[in-house]
Amino acid sequence: MGGLRTAEALRKAGYAGPLRVIGEELHAPYNRPPLSKDVLSGTVTHEAVAFPQRAATADVEWMLGARAVSADLTARTVTTGDGVAHPYAALVIATGLRPRRLALAELPGRHTVRTLDDAMALRDELQPGARVVIVGSGFIGCEVAATARKLGCEVTVASPSTLPIVRPLGPLLATEILARQQAHGVAFRLGRAVTGLVGASRLEGVVLDDGAALPADVLIEAIGSDCNSEWLAGTGLDCSDGVLADAAMRAVGVDGTVHDDVYVVGDIARFPNAMFDDVARRVEHWNIPTDTGKRAGFVLAALLESPEGFSDAVQTPFAPMPAFWSNQFEVALQAYGLPGLADDIRLLEGSLDSEAIVGYYRDDRMVGVVGLGMKAALLPYRKVIAEGGLSVLGST
Ligand SMILES: Cc1cc2nc3c(=O)[nH]c(=O)nc-3n(C[C@H](O)[C@H](O)[C@H](O)COP(=O)(O)OP(=O)(O)OC[C@H]3O[C@@H](n4cnc5c(N)ncnc54)[C@H](O)[C@@H]3O)c2cc1C
Repeated sequence: MGGLRTAEALRKAGYAGPLRVIGEELHAPYNRPPLSKDVLSGTVTHEAVAFPQRAATADVEWMLGARAVSADLTARTVTTGDGVAHPYAALVIATGLRPRRLALAELPGRHTVRTLDDAMALRDELQPGARVVIVGSGFIGCEVAATARKLGCEVTVASPSTLPIVRPLGPLLATEILARQQAHGVAFRLGRAVTGLVGASRLEGVVLDDGAALPADVLIEAIGSDCNSEWLAGTGLDCSDGVLADAAMRAVGVDGTVHDDVYVVGDIARFPNAMFDDVARRVEHWNIPTDTGKRAGFVLAALLESPEGFSDAVQTPFAPMPAFWSNQFEVALQAYGLPGLADDIRLLEGSLDSEAIVGYYRDDRMVGVVGLGMKAALLPYRKVIAEGGLSVLGST
């Protein structure tokens, strides 16, 4: 998504030169959020999730099924798995994340949910009555739990956390989500880790760190992600958590060097957001590949097409509003800002057992807002966050 959005932005900003996208997956860019929700409850197809191709990017060269294995920022080349070195004038890093795996034996029945192929393989196994254990109680773990339950599976979520989705949402909403998941028949083993598997030729169960053995036909690992940055080893870029970028999305080296010809977008980008502070963070939300892709495309087009405007393009303020949503059973969550930064959480409107708006504050400034339903009523709070979070709205 980040690669596609950057290509679109480059064309929109007037770059007319060649564009090559190197992508490991065989599928043209597609939308990932449905993979843990609707798509998993029906027949999973590429058509159902593919991004529309726009005329502006019809001439982009898509090298699909090709993996970047290294980059040389001095020679300006990216080398793919077949040993070919591809020269570039500018490089955009958009390689995203991959699911973290449990360090346990490989057995049929183990699954992750990141790619379309992952979702297709999992869908085949989510048959009514299947015993499904999900390890990890973040957004993806909880969404897949709801989807599997709706498909008639017996679902248990095991997680070291004390509450589901508690890190980004805080205990108020997390407690409500737990109650609603349980009301739909999802079982939880909280404060527990998976330490072993049962089964010789295919999965039959999982063992928890309290010694309990849960029968399981399917294990879904939703324990977070690692950044796909290994191919940048030796480039000098700061890959300590994703790839560090400045507010123009230019890549930054471990020695502080800012690379005018290398950009970072999407989940892998660790960048400062002036809406909050000058701390560089990665933000794994759907709007970020689009916002950072537009930003990188705008700055890069200036570099390639009108260098006299490059400095102005770099200086243009950049403060994208993080936004995410989640659907689990009847729960429709919509969020703005960075709720995870909060030191204070307040119920602002409604009631947690029906529909509610929860505000997230750091040093008394609103840094995030989450709606449990009440989508339209969230918009004034979104504005407060965008304006620095100091308005009195929602502070009583
Ligand atoms: C199941 C699921 C559900 C989600 N639901 C929501 C949601 O409800 N709301 C929300 O806000 N966000 C959601 N997200 C997050 C959102 O989808 C991501 O933020 C977004 O997809 C990130 O886009 P990206 O382009 O940065 O990375 P990706 O989409 O990961 O794309 C990176 C691409 O780079 C490829 N690649 C990696 N390494 C290499 C290499 N060395 N060479 C070549 N290619 C490589 C990968 O194969 C991949 O195709 C969800 C994500 C998932 C996985």
